[in-house]
Order: sequence, then structure tokens, then C-alpha cells
Amino acid sequence: MNAFTDKLSAALCDTADAALIFSPENRFYYTGFPASDGALLVTGKDALFFTDSRYTEAAERKLGKAYVRDSAKLYEALNAIFAENGIETVAVENDRLTLAQFARLQEKLPAVRFVSDASLTDLTNAQRGVKTAEEVEKISAAQRIAEAAFDHILGFIKPGLTEREIALELEYYMLRHGADGLSFETIAVSGVNSSLPHGVPSDKKVEPGDFITMDYGALKDGYHSDMTRTVALGHVTDEQKRVYDTVLRAQLASLEKMCAGVSCFDADKAARDVIKDAGYGDYFGHGTGHGVGVEIHEFPRVSPLSKDILKAGNVVTAEPGIYLPARFGVRIEDMALITETGCVNLTRCPKELIVL
Ligand code: ZN
Ligand code: ZN
Repeated sequence: MNAFTDKLSAALCDTADAALIFSPENRFYYTGFPASDGALLVTGKDALFFTDSRYTEAAERKLGKAYVRDSAKLYEALNAIFAENGIETVAVENDRLTLAQFARLQEKLPAVRFVSDASLTDLTNAQRGVKTAEEVEKISAAQRIAEAAFDHILGFIKPGLTEREIALELEYYMLRHGADGLSFETIAVSGVNSSLPHGVPSDKKVEPGDFITMDYGALKDGYHSDMTRTVALGHVTDEQKRVYDTVLRAQLASLEKMCAGVSCFDADKAARDVIKDAGYGDYFGHGTGHGVGVEIHEFPRVSPLSKDILKAGNVVTAEPGIYLPARFGVRIEDMALITETGCVNLTRCPKELIVL
């Protein structure tokens, strides 16, 4: 049906005779067609997309008439296809299906054996993790929108504005300048709230001496961007400067380490060691980064728990932080494209401390 389903079809033989994909993220990734409902069947030689009347015409235009089927007749069609093609094993997404959905599949498709271990999940994660040049362009296009919003917000922030007003301004700017949506709920936290890594913007007003951490992204053509910047308002203490400098050095160390063949554990450790050596090891609780693409958080995970190895084509974030409870926090986040010789930073925003 296309290069993406061909890739899955070719890799499938080790896993099962066919893969049946229901999750919107994987359906979108493999077909390029966004729909709230549908199923994608990929066999060793072909792919078919099942959807309902709301999407049929649009799906036929995008994927070709020969590949689109009516999802009202899903089980009937699948039973026939399985019988005709001697398909005995069907892999499903063990991290996406609900138990009810799985029970229904077993009931409606009694002739096949379902492969419900992690094999299809591992396969789709690995395939989605390696981006094509076109996917990198989409992520970069989303990132350009977020960067323009950052330039804008630097001129917008002033004492007395609330965190919520800053978050809304970032969001409005991105949506006004080409974003199809937001990557996730914008984080804009200030002062004591900046010690909350995923704090929700509140009615707290920003004031001189505050660090303001903004973590946000744009969605464009189905692909996400993700960036974080911490800026200061008015003035900073020596300690704030030291913490900022430590996070920046940690972030640069992990970017420096990132390269095809390097373990995610080591890419994380590069950042973690800098923070530990500076005496702030207890205040960096999360992983250093994550893959970004069709989902905001996807494979691979750059964390101390990860067993993944970076591959050329991975797009991952580097986002260490230090969070001093009830005092202040700093996080700096870029997205990087992993290459055979290192990585290319997809983020083009300044990282030296900005005091507004
Ligand atoms: Zn982020
Ligand atoms: Zn992130």
C-alpha cells in the first residue's frame, strides 16, 4: 500500500502471518491517514485499511480504492481473508488493545491464534523510532512554529502576568501561526512552581526573581515538537545561575554523547553525571529524554532504566532538569536527530540564560 506498510509487511514474518492494528497512532503512522476509527490489516504481501462511511471516500483518495474496505464488515472480511491466505497467526498491539477488544477479537475470529506478546509492539516501536527525511521535516516544521512562539513570548512576558496567561499566549501564537494543534497541554510554571517538573499553569503572577519554565510544542501534519526553556525575570541569584549552568552543561553533555550505537542508558548518564557531580543528583528524578514523532512520547526512552540503543534516524529529546522543592527549578529541552556520527540538534533557540 505504501513504503511504511511494506516495511511492516517485510518484517512481519518473524512475528506472525499478519498484523492487525487498531490504535490511531499506529494506523496513522503506517497509512498516513488520520481517522478516529478503523483497522489496518498487514499480511506478508499486502495491506488493507478498514474504515467506516465517514472516512471511506477520503481514505480511498489517500490510499487507493483497492486498499479500503468497509469496517462494518470487518470480522466477516477478516475471516475470509485469513481462510483464503492460510493465515494462522495474527499479531496485535498488546500495549494498545483493551481486554474487551481482545476478547471480542478472539470471539469473532476463532480460526486464528493471536500473538499478544510484545513482539508487534517492539516491531512498530522500532520502525516508528527511525524517522524518514520527510518525517524529520514535519517535526522540524512543527518545531519552527514553537520557536517563533518562543521569540514572541520573550517580548510578551512581564511582571504581573499569570502563568496561565503565558501558557495561553504560547498556545494562541502557535495555533495562529500554522500549528494544527498542541503537542500537549502547555507547561508554564514560575518561581516556587518551577520546581514542579510537570506543573499546571496557575493564576500565580510572575514576578522579578522568578525562573519561568515553559515546556510546550506544536502539532503539524500529524507530527509533534517538544521544547523547554527556562528564563528569568528581572534578576537571578548566584545559586539560580549555578543551577541553570549545571542543567545546561548536563544537557550539552547528553547531546554530545548521543550517536547511533550509543545506549540510551549512557546518553542519560552523560547528563545525570554532570548534575550528580554538581551536588544536585537528588533533584533530577526523570529520564533525560524520549522519542518524539506521531506521539509526543514514544520509543526510544533515554533513561537510566532503558535498554534501548540509539539508531540513526531516531528523534529524541535531551531535557535534564534540576528541581529544588518549594524553591525553583530549571529544565532545558531540545530535540535531536541521531546520525551515524553524532546528532543534529533540531532546535534553534538560544540556551544561554535569558534574563527578561
Ligand atoms: Zn517537553
Ligand atoms: Zn519532552
